[in-house]
Amino acid sequence: MDEILTALLPGEVVSGEKMSESLGITRTAVWKKVTALRERGFEIESVGRKGYRLIRSPDVLMAPLISAGLGTKWAGHPVICHECVDSTNRVLKQMAINGAGHGTLVLANEQTGGRGRRGRGWLTPKDTSIAMSLLLRPEIPPARVALLSLAASVAVAKGIEQVTGLPARIKWPNDIVVNGKKVCGILLEMEANEQSVSYVVAGAGINVHILEFPEEIRETATSLDLECGHPVSRVKTVQAVMRAAEETEQMLRQGTFMSVYEQYSATMGRPVSVQAVGETFTGTAERIKEDGVLVVRTASGELREVMAGDVSVRGLMGYV
Ligand code: ATP
Repeated sequence: MDEILTALLPGEVVSGEKMSESLGITRTAVWKKVTALRERGFEIESVGRKGYRLIRSPDVLMAPLISAGLGTKWAGHPVICHECVDSTNRVLKQMAINGAGHGTLVLANEQTGGRGRRGRGWLTPKDTSIAMSLLLRPEIPPARVALLSLAASVAVAKGIEQVTGLPARIKWPNDIVVNGKKVCGILLEMEANEQSVSYVVAGAGINVHILEFPEEIRETATSLDLECGHPVSRVKTVQAVMRAAEETEQMLRQGTFMSVYEQYSATMGRPVSVQAVGETFTGTAERIKEDGVLVVRTASGELREVMAGDVSVRGLMGYV
């Protein structure tokens, strides 16, 4: 379907014969793929005997739609879209093992086994959210990888802000919240030895068109459509996040990253409850160190360092 969609995307009339010749498939095969595109929600006009014309595209994650006007150098090259996978992180990890390159992007319209941190489930219903994983092969020491997890959250927050105008903020370490509720969860997985990082898979699940959440997360979750009051494009959101990923990489190189992260932080300076394994304590989120560690000042004045991965941080007054 991708080749036919690419041929139709400019919006001009394209003859079935021409497509069958250039793609090396029969006219019937062309017709079947056009039918499949129509079933997926594409409005395609049959122009007499002349051919087909694309009138309107639905908001689905398909490679030609993402690539058109993406405008990035490395992020999203190539882009591979799936209708349904268990987890885009798992798919991309396998591709990384098989040699996929820096910037490879995997997207899915539905995810059946999405995971948050510590193996917790992540809801990705069909066509209403974005399941995305970006492959990085960074030339940094393993000790700095935690920073990439913060960097991923800045890229998503910036992308969301650019597309929607919503005040997207980061709940440490890397949940994206809008108006106090979570719109996106991020999970980084990596393969590294003591000296170097082989690859990092940066995964994000963004709630876009979800209008109702299950009971358990109704109080803490929201979506871009709910916050904007109108439908937000998943395709444009992915593109904006990829552009923001490249901008964020520049910030990391130029040493301006931490100050930008702080601007987006919903946690800094706030009273927090840190829920670690076997222990919960409260305090004020005082700062975030260069390596991504959160420094919390407890009520007794003691400074405690909190590492991402071990804990959930909640606001004392609510989720953030
Ligand atoms: P916190 O527990 O503070 O939300 P966390 O970073 O520990 O943050 P993650 O592991 O990233 O949480 O995400 C998993 C949790 O997110 C699940 O346990 C569930 O409560 C919630 N969740 C699952 N799917 C969604 C979704 N689509 N939108 C918002 N929240 C979700």
